[in-house]
Amino acid sequence: MPVIRSDLPALVLDSYDYGESDKIVVFFCQDVGRISALARGAHRSKKRFVNKLEIFTFLQITYSKSRAGSLFMLDEAELVNSFISLRTDLTSYRVASIIREYMLLTTRETSDDDQLFQLALWALHSLNTGIDQKQVLALFMIKLFDVLGYRPDFSVCQSCGTRPASHEEVLFNVQGGTMICKKCSAGHDQGHRLLAAGTTMMISAVQQQPVFRLNRFKPSGTVLEQILDCSYNYSRHLFQRDIHSWKALDSRKNLL
Ligand SMILES: [Zn+2]
Repeated sequence: MPVIRSDLPALVLDSYDYGESDKIVVFFCQDVGRISALARGAHRSKKRFVNKLEIFTFLQITYSKSRAGSLFMLDEAELVNSFISLRTDLTSYRVASIIREYMLLTTRETSDDDQLFQLALWALHSLNTGIDQKQVLALFMIKLFDVLGYRPDFSVCQSCGTRPASHEEVLFNVQGGTMICKKCSAGHDQGHRLLAAGTTMMISAVQQQPVFRLNRFKPSGTVLEQILDCSYNYSRHLFQRDIHSWKALDSRKNLL
């Protein structure tokens, strides 16, 4: 039986030329997960696909698949939002590229993860509407760990098991996603990052909220810097690789 899906919300994660006139497009689709589809004639600026298959673009697509193991065929693509600011503002573009790299790393072929889709869509929408790029990235990262099941644990110190007072600084263990209180911190500076009390409070508060409420949070200053620093280092450890697009910001210092 052929598989046909119509009007499926989808984000373009990647696209490359295939042969003389076709393109292979990598989509992150609602309800379906990541798929690669062949867009026939896309390279020859056929009307139905022109300007629609750029990365970050939000579409409603119709695809078909004739049998198991065959390639998905992109039949139609309706533009929902091209997120134009991501192409005209350099910082927005760079932050969107980081988000895209995490999506390519974490999404799988045909694995349905609606929360991850909603999170990516929220981040691109927020960047496009001019919300501070660093804020968007920080909030995205906190929820990304959450959605993937790697929520950092700030409930108790991993060493002594006590809960630090609400005004206390703690150390975040980027290798375990856990924290150590100041009293136990001697000799633990390797691979640990300092978090102000305000930072752990912000992260915990963001973790409690659904994606559509993220815009109510406005981390700034030290809190924002620490969230970005911890997230970057924690994700490098989780994925056991560097996040290349993060480097395109020249260095993280440039972003902070
Ligand atoms: Zn302790």
